[in-house]
Amino acid sequence: MSEQQFFGHIIDGEEVESVGGERLDVWNPWTREVWAQAADGQEADAHKAIESSRRAFDEGPWATMGRVERAQHIHALADLMEERTDDLARLDSTNMAKPFEEAKHDVARSVWNFRFFADHQRDHVGEVYPMDTGHHTYSEFGPAGVVAAISPWNFPLMMASWKIAPAIAWGNTCIIKPSEDTPASVTMLGRLATEAGLPPGVLNVLNGHGAPAGATLTGDDRVDRVTFTGSSTTGKAVMASAASHLAPVSLELGGKGANIVFEDADLDNAVYWAVEAIFRNAGQICLAGSRLFVQASIYDEFLARFTEAAEQLSIGDPFDPSTRFSALASRKHFEKVSSYVESAKELGGRFHTGGVADDGSWVVRPTIIDSLALDAEPYCEEIFGPVCVVNSFETEEEAVALANDTRYGLNAMLFTENLSRAHRVSSVLRAGTVWVNCFFIRDLRTPFGGVGDSGVGREGGNFSREFFTEPKAVVMQI
Ligand code: NAD
Repeated sequence: MSEQQFFGHIIDGEEVESVGGERLDVWNPWTREVWAQAADGQEADAHKAIESSRRAFDEGPWATMGRVERAQHIHALADLMEERTDDLARLDSTNMAKPFEEAKHDVARSVWNFRFFADHQRDHVGEVYPMDTGHHTYSEFGPAGVVAAISPWNFPLMMASWKIAPAIAWGNTCIIKPSEDTPASVTMLGRLATEAGLPPGVLNVLNGHGAPAGATLTGDDRVDRVTFTGSSTTGKAVMASAASHLAPVSLELGGKGANIVFEDADLDNAVYWAVEAIFRNAGQICLAGSRLFVQASIYDEFLARFTEAAEQLSIGDPFDPSTRFSALASRKHFEKVSSYVESAKELGGRFHTGGVADDGSWVVRPTIIDSLALDAEPYCEEIFGPVCVVNSFETEEEAVALANDTRYGLNAMLFTENLSRAHRVSSVLRAGTVWVNCFFIRDLRTPFGGVGDSGVGREGGNFSREFFTEPKAVVMQI
């Protein structure tokens, strides 16, 4: 087996096997073959990673390094990532059947995450307040310590970068545990961190399953912060585990995003984004517009155009430049999404297009369903695949009530050319992000996170600063 086909842990700047030699298979979901192996981290490996990150934090120089120098290190890593864009993207495309162009876009966004947070901490301005008592007081934002970051498989590199970048920028050391399904690009990121000259232990990569690898990290009292992106069910377990040693958690969890199209929308734009919102990355996006609400007066026309656009997405090999849509990320996930599709059929859903491919592949075609009851599982639960459930509404109030009728609250979209309505509806939607006439556009200075079962806390800009530091007030008598 060649070097590139094994993804070890990166601990203290070295790529290593698990202590006991355990490995797991890494699949290519398009070819449905094992194409690599990764270290399968056990408790002993997690302990090694924690010891290394603890030492790197306590003994320095990372936590006490000047802000400019730390930013330079992070930019050096970003430079290497940029140079190796195709290699990183190839790993994600192979590992989860993400169309190669999209994977390259994800690398660019990951690079930007590192650059943004490097500069954000470097240019950060503290607060100083003269007090009426004659004292003055200021705030300090010192690093919190060791961060455990746990990420999912849908954007393997990008989700990890979103956690690692602010964590290390603010002077913490970080252990990233990527999904067992997609260890490749994050392991390469760990290799690049060594090559870029990050001090050993600043970024450790622990491969392996949720338990024992992830669970050992979250429950260890040498870990000071836990940042997790994944399902709501796992999020609850992670929070309980971190609570055992009072580590603050940031949880980015599941979603069932509402996409509302009003009759005064620019329909070309609304169709374009409705397709992107549910079929990009084969619908494996926490932010997916998986519940579509269309005003009754344009319902038939919109549905016809949306269906036509969905059918035009070319399905195939992620490395074929014409491919816009490919297989689901694993057999397990394909089976899960397929079972929702079957249940939608049994529950009387009307299929406008799509369904499970019957060619042995792990493809579920872009699927559009209406006529499902509002308490049907495929309507209420996060499917995390290319399945859009559609309903009509008559009034703005009804649209908002339908959109908010969910235990999730990660994001919502609305399409209208009426400015007052855009503001009015945005303010009453129960969601961490609302996109008006667009989708998936992100400014890293603004809060990102979810309401209800979609998460706890916000990351981005100063929100990340507050999570990844220990803010301190210094009060001084003059
Ligand atoms: P998952 O919860 O199964 O796994 C996520 C990560 O947690 C993996 O690395 C896994 O190994 C690890 N894990 C599992 N059990 C653990 C435990 N007991 N302790 C510690 N770690 C554990 O989620 P997934 O299937 O990989 O990802 C899909 C989910 O992620 C969807 O629900 C999706 O909506 C959500 N997601 C949310 C966001 C967001 O920003 N809110 C972004 C992407 C994905």
